[in-house]
Amino acid sequence: MLKLIIFGPPSAGKGTQAQRLSERYGIPQIATGDLLRDAVAKQTPLGAKIKSYLDSGRLGPDDLIVQLISDRVSKPDCAGGYILDGFPRTMGQARELDKMAEVDIVLNIVVDMERLVERAIGRRTCGQCAAVYHVSFNPPKAPGVCDKCGSGLIQRDDDKEDTVRNRLRIYMEQTAPLLEHFRMNDNLVDIDGSKGIDGVFDQMVEAIERVRA
Ligand code: ADP
Ligand code: ZN
Repeated sequence: MLKLIIFGPPSAGKGTQAQRLSERYGIPQIATGDLLRDAVAKQTPLGAKIKSYLDSGRLGPDDLIVQLISDRVSKPDCAGGYILDGFPRTMGQARELDKMAEVDIVLNIVVDMERLVERAIGRRTCGQCAAVYHVSFNPPKAPGVCDKCGSGLIQRDDDKEDTVRNRLRIYMEQTAPLLEHFRMNDNLVDIDGSKGIDGVFDQMVEAIERVRA
């Protein structure tokens, strides 16, 4: 059983690492943003409620997000653990999570502001399988085409520069304070996110092996 949180500001590399850790440890990546975007695309009742929040880069209401996650972690594929990517994002969500599960480790990706903007602006995502690329730092083999499934890559609406800066500001105000909460739970590990994708991954695996030992 292995339960992880990948934490950090928007476009720090959470999704990229969660995807790799999911393959390495055989546990699902629970990407809150993908679940929400999926709900919007499928026009579910939750999706209709959440659309305006996503479009503006604001956080969705805690009760909806918590419901979404608690449904997801009770699915059978989560029996051996899971990777939370993009949850919790507020103190309210963190308190609900504490009631729901005991997380083994919180991996906090530390990256400076300008790198974050650069990563967000160059991000490209597969419309089909949600694989994540970067035009310079992690380009697909053929431009605009997903290596994994061959579908077209898209730029997310919320990866425009001013939305990115807005999301970073919201992170600083509402999400960064959770670090104190995790530090109290004594399961927080800082990861140097200025390294390349492999360098970040190696640090994470090392930290996970340490808590499992
Ligand atoms: P998050 O899930 O935290 O928003 P992503 O995993 O989507 O972040 O990564 C944001 C962008 O930065 C993507 O384009 C990704 O390819 C790129 N990226 C991720 N990790 C690194 C890294 N260590 N170095 C350079 N670019 C990275
Ligand atoms: Zn794909």
